[in-house]
Amino acid sequence: MYTLDSKKAPQPDETLSNYIRRRRKEAQISQQQLATAAGIHLQSLGKLERGKTTKLNQKTKTRLAAALSIPIEYLEAICSGQPVSEVETRKFCPQCWTPGTDPDSVWTLYRAKYCLLCGTQLRTHCTSCGEPLSSFKHKFCPNCGTSYQTSTQKRK
Ligand SMILES: [Zn+2]
Ligand SMILES: [Zn+2]
Repeated sequence: MYTLDSKKAPQPDETLSNYIRRRRKEAQISQQQLATAAGIHLQSLGKLERGKTTKLNQKTKTRLAAALSIPIEYLEAICSGQPVSEVETRKFCPQCWTPGTDPDSVWTLYRAKYCLLCGTQLRTHCTSCGEPLSSFKHKFCPNCGTSYQTSTQKRK
Protein backbone atom coordinates (compact mmCIF):
# COMPACT_ATOMS: atom_id res chain seq x y z
CA MET A 1 0.00 0.00 0.00
CA TYR A 2 1.40 3.35 -0.98
CA THR A 3 -0.23 6.29 0.62
CA LEU A 4 2.46 8.91 0.30
CA ASP A 5 2.14 11.15 -2.71
CA SER A 6 5.89 11.31 -3.07
CA LYS A 7 5.82 7.63 -3.93
CA LYS A 8 3.57 8.40 -6.83
CA ALA A 9 5.80 11.08 -8.21
CA PRO A 10 8.52 10.15 -10.65
CA GLN A 11 11.92 9.82 -9.00
CA PRO A 12 14.54 12.33 -10.13
CA ASP A 13 16.30 9.98 -12.55
CA GLU A 14 13.43 7.67 -13.34
CA THR A 15 12.64 7.17 -17.01
CA LEU A 16 9.13 7.23 -18.44
CA SER A 17 9.19 3.48 -19.01
CA ASN A 18 10.37 2.67 -15.49
CA TYR A 19 7.89 5.05 -14.01
CA ILE A 20 4.90 3.61 -15.87
CA ARG A 21 5.94 0.07 -15.05
CA ARG A 22 6.47 0.91 -11.39
CA ARG A 23 3.13 2.68 -11.09
CA ARG A 24 1.37 -0.20 -12.84
CA LYS A 25 2.89 -2.73 -10.44
CA GLU A 26 2.05 -0.58 -7.45
CA ALA A 27 -1.51 -0.38 -8.67
CA GLN A 28 -1.38 -4.17 -9.13
CA ILE A 29 -2.82 -4.20 -12.60
CA SER A 30 -1.63 -6.18 -15.58
CA GLN A 31 -0.35 -4.67 -18.82
CA GLN A 32 -3.57 -5.78 -20.47
CA GLN A 33 -5.69 -4.05 -17.84
CA LEU A 34 -3.71 -0.85 -18.12
CA ALA A 35 -3.76 -0.91 -21.91
CA THR A 36 -7.53 -1.31 -21.87
CA ALA A 37 -7.99 1.44 -19.28
CA ALA A 38 -5.77 3.81 -21.23
CA GLY A 39 -7.32 2.89 -24.57
CA ILE A 40 -4.03 1.88 -26.18
CA HIS A 41 -2.85 -1.36 -27.72
CA LEU A 42 -1.14 -3.86 -25.48
CA GLN A 43 1.75 -3.76 -27.93
CA SER A 44 2.06 0.01 -27.58
CA LEU A 45 2.10 -0.28 -23.82
CA GLY A 46 4.75 -2.99 -24.08
CA LYS A 47 6.88 -0.67 -26.19
CA LEU A 48 6.32 2.12 -23.73
CA GLU A 49 7.41 0.00 -20.79
CA ARG A 50 10.49 -1.19 -22.66
CA GLY A 51 11.51 2.40 -23.27
CA LYS A 52 10.87 2.30 -27.03
CA THR A 53 8.36 5.11 -26.82
CA THR A 54 9.22 8.36 -25.12
CA LYS A 55 6.55 10.63 -26.51
CA LEU A 56 2.90 10.36 -25.61
CA ASN A 57 0.06 12.25 -27.15
CA GLN A 58 -2.18 14.30 -24.92
CA LYS A 59 -5.05 11.82 -24.99
CA THR A 60 -2.84 8.88 -24.03
CA LYS A 61 -1.25 10.91 -21.25
CA THR A 62 -4.64 11.86 -19.86
CA ARG A 63 -5.92 8.30 -19.92
CA LEU A 64 -2.71 6.76 -18.60
CA ALA A 65 -2.63 9.27 -15.74
CA ALA A 66 -6.24 8.42 -14.87
CA ALA A 67 -5.61 4.68 -15.11
CA LEU A 68 -2.55 4.92 -12.87
CA SER A 69 -4.19 7.47 -10.55
CA ILE A 70 -1.46 10.01 -10.94
CA PRO A 71 -1.74 13.67 -11.89
CA ILE A 72 -1.11 14.25 -15.57
CA GLU A 73 1.55 16.79 -14.60
CA TYR A 74 3.75 13.90 -13.49
CA LEU A 75 3.65 12.40 -16.95
CA GLU A 76 4.16 15.78 -18.54
CA ALA A 77 7.13 16.40 -16.28
CA ILE A 78 8.82 13.11 -17.00
CA CYS A 79 8.19 13.46 -20.75
CA SER A 80 9.71 16.90 -20.83
CA GLY A 81 12.51 16.11 -18.38
CA GLN A 82 11.49 18.80 -15.92
CA PRO A 83 11.36 18.29 -12.15
CA VAL A 84 7.79 17.68 -10.98
CA SER A 85 8.01 20.44 -8.39
CA GLU A 86 8.45 23.02 -11.14
CA VAL A 87 5.75 21.72 -13.42
CA GLU A 88 3.22 21.73 -10.60
CA THR A 89 3.54 25.40 -9.96
CA ARG A 90 3.35 26.65 -13.52
CA LYS A 91 -0.36 26.88 -14.07
CA PHE A 92 -2.27 30.04 -14.49
CA CYS A 93 -5.68 31.38 -15.26
CA PRO A 94 -5.58 33.25 -18.56
CA GLN A 95 -8.36 35.53 -17.31
CA CYS A 96 -7.32 36.37 -13.74
CA TRP A 97 -3.56 36.23 -13.88
CA THR A 98 -1.74 39.45 -14.58
CA PRO A 99 1.33 38.25 -16.46
CA GLY A 100 4.55 39.11 -14.72
CA THR A 101 3.11 38.80 -11.20
CA ASP A 102 3.05 35.90 -8.77
CA PRO A 103 0.30 33.39 -9.50
CA ASP A 104 -2.60 32.80 -7.16
CA SER A 105 -1.94 29.72 -5.05
CA VAL A 106 -5.32 28.25 -6.02
CA TRP A 107 -3.93 27.49 -9.48
CA THR A 108 -0.78 25.74 -8.38
CA LEU A 109 -2.44 22.82 -6.62
CA TYR A 110 -1.70 19.96 -8.90
CA ARG A 111 -5.27 18.76 -8.94
CA ALA A 112 -6.64 22.13 -9.97
CA LYS A 113 -7.82 22.14 -13.55
CA TYR A 114 -10.03 25.18 -13.48
CA CYS A 115 -9.65 28.57 -11.90
CA LEU A 116 -11.51 28.67 -8.60
CA LEU A 117 -12.18 32.35 -9.11
CA CYS A 118 -13.74 32.41 -12.55
CA GLY A 119 -14.00 28.81 -13.76
CA THR A 120 -11.70 29.21 -16.73
CA GLN A 121 -9.57 26.20 -17.61
CA LEU A 122 -6.05 26.68 -16.33
CA ARG A 123 -3.16 26.79 -18.76
CA THR A 124 0.41 25.65 -18.54
CA HIS A 125 1.39 26.42 -22.10
CA CYS A 126 1.41 29.22 -24.60
CA THR A 127 -1.86 28.99 -26.52
CA SER A 128 -0.18 29.93 -29.73
CA CYS A 129 2.87 27.68 -29.99
CA GLY A 130 2.45 25.26 -27.07
CA GLU A 131 5.71 26.22 -25.38
CA PRO A 132 5.37 25.60 -21.61
CA LEU A 133 5.29 28.66 -19.39
CA SER A 134 8.85 28.87 -18.15
CA SER A 135 8.52 31.67 -15.62
CA PHE A 136 5.75 33.67 -13.98
CA LYS A 137 7.94 36.70 -14.55
CA HIS A 138 7.27 36.52 -18.26
CA LYS A 139 4.39 38.45 -19.77
CA PHE A 140 4.80 37.08 -23.25
CA CYS A 141 5.82 33.73 -24.58
CA PRO A 142 9.60 33.92 -25.17
CA ASN A 143 9.19 31.60 -28.12
CA CYS A 144 6.55 33.38 -30.17
CA GLY A 145 5.71 36.61 -28.35
CA THR A 146 2.07 35.83 -27.65
CA SER A 147 0.68 37.31 -24.43
CA TYR A 148 -0.16 34.72 -21.78
CA GLN A 149 -3.29 36.65 -20.96
CA THR A 150 -6.33 36.03 -23.15
CA SER A 151 -7.17 38.93 -25.38
CA THR A 152 -10.73 39.29 -24.06
CA GLN A 153 -11.26 42.43 -22.02
CA LYS A 154 -10.59 41.91 -18.33
CA ARG A 155 -13.51 42.97 -16.18
CA LYS A 156 -12.65 44.59 -12.89
ZN1 LIG B 1 -9.74 32.91 -13.30
ZN1 LIG C 1 4.30 30.86 -27.80
